[in-house]
Amino acid sequence: MFKIGSFFSPLLDFILPRTCIICNEQINQGLLCDNCINYLPSIRNPLCKRCGRPIKKGGLCRYCKGGSMVEHGRAWSIYMPPVDKIVHYFKYRRQTSLARLIGLGMSNVIKADNILNKADYIIPVPLFWFKRLKRGYNQARLLTEIISSECHIQSINALSRIKNTRSQTRLDPELRKRNVRNAFVLKDRRIENKNVLLVDDVLTTGATINECARVLKSGGAQNIYSCVAAITLIE
Ligand SMILES: [Zn+2]
Ligand SMILES: [Zn+2]
Repeated sequence: MFKIGSFFSPLLDFILPRTCIICNEQINQGLLCDNCINYLPSIRNPLCKRCGRPIKKGGLCRYCKGGSMVEHGRAWSIYMPPVDKIVHYFKYRRQTSLARLIGLGMSNVIKADNILNKADYIIPVPLFWFKRLKRGYNQARLLTEIISSECHIQSINALSRIKNTRSQTRLDPELRKRNVRNAFVLKDRRIENKNVLLVDDVLTTGATINECARVLKSGGAQNIYSCVAAITLIE
């Protein structure tokens, strides 16, 4: 689709000064001011041993206690203000330039983690083809490309989404599992006996990542790891 905004953006910048999407402070470039970038909520220990979610006591979070196919996971940030807004702009408002900020943040998390940085392949959680066409991109794939080049891990699009699942947002944990069941198929056999790192934008109950992990494991993958941009807290 032809977008007036992108065509005239140098002109618009001149007329309308750029402002930070979080605090409305005037900025020269990008979408966020330095102050907002520096004060993004950080992940603090203790973390759930499986998904990497900050929890009150060590061990597993409530969702991973119910069973997890992911051996080890980490997140860049917490899904709360202002990160929820950043993810929203990245996912639904075509602000794909945010992939760099988020992808570099995730890369730093992976580089510092001695399990994740040894993954053989990195795989984005796929979108259903129609959703990707409508959105114009798969946000997880954009993150994967940046992480792949930063962390020197080969990326492969080993999964395909064959079901146009409805949004998980309003579903309870059990319905989320059911909603994504059999939604993915394996289309690349290179994952056999390999350690695979799955990448997605947000992890809530882990239903989507777990279903991807299940398919990869039944295709012969050894260990499944995950890294997400933002993870929710459990109250
Ligand atoms: Zn700001
Ligand atoms: Zn967990």
